Amino acid sequence: MPSEPRRISLLQGDITKIQVDAIVNAANSSLLGGGGVDGAIHRAAGPELVHACRLLGGCKTGQAKLTPGFRLPAPWIIHTVGPVYRDGMQGEAQQLAACYRACLSIAAERNFQSLAFPAISCGIYGYPILEACSIAIREISQFLATNASPATVVLVAFDSQVHQAFSQILQDLD
Ligand code: ADP
Repeated sequence: MPSEPRRISLLQGDITKIQVDAIVNAANSSLLGGGGVDGAIHRAAGPELVHACRLLGGCKTGQAKLTPGFRLPAPWIIHTVGPVYRDGMQGEAQQLAACYRACLSIAAERNFQSLAFPAISCGIYGYPILEACSIAIREISQFLATNASPATVVLVAFDSQVHQAFSQILQDLD
């Protein structure tokens, strides 16, 4: 198995276009759709997604739930709810780390080979980008070190600031 840094790749673009076993949605606790990546995923997956999400009864911060991908190229969506960043003293880092672990655990249980993440909490939820991206990469590397599945993880940066942060942290890992 390649070393953990080799199993993580970085792309700039739209996560709804990516062909992987599952994409992660940075959702809100209702799971009924919202702005940012959540809105884009609901639009691309089609109206079946909100129907499936209604049956899930919401999701707590730091947890994750699975639905089909419907009209997306990815067959599955893992919905997670990141923390709203206030001052960094409200357990935000632990909650954000828990999101990544919860998504990776679902992927491992389902034996997904490839998984794509957006930068959870880095948009509307206001998490400082470099900090959030370093938590993401730390949690993903730690998980991959002890799990064969998912074989590969793609970090999907929509904006250049997130792309730069991820790429800087990945370089430091190498
Ligand atoms: P949150 O509420 O968790 O902050 P947002 O959707 O507002 O979620 O933002 C999370 C990250 O997802 C931000 O970096 C944002 O630029 C990015 N993003 C927005 N749309 C997409 C998309 N289509 N694909 C990938 N990332 C996206």
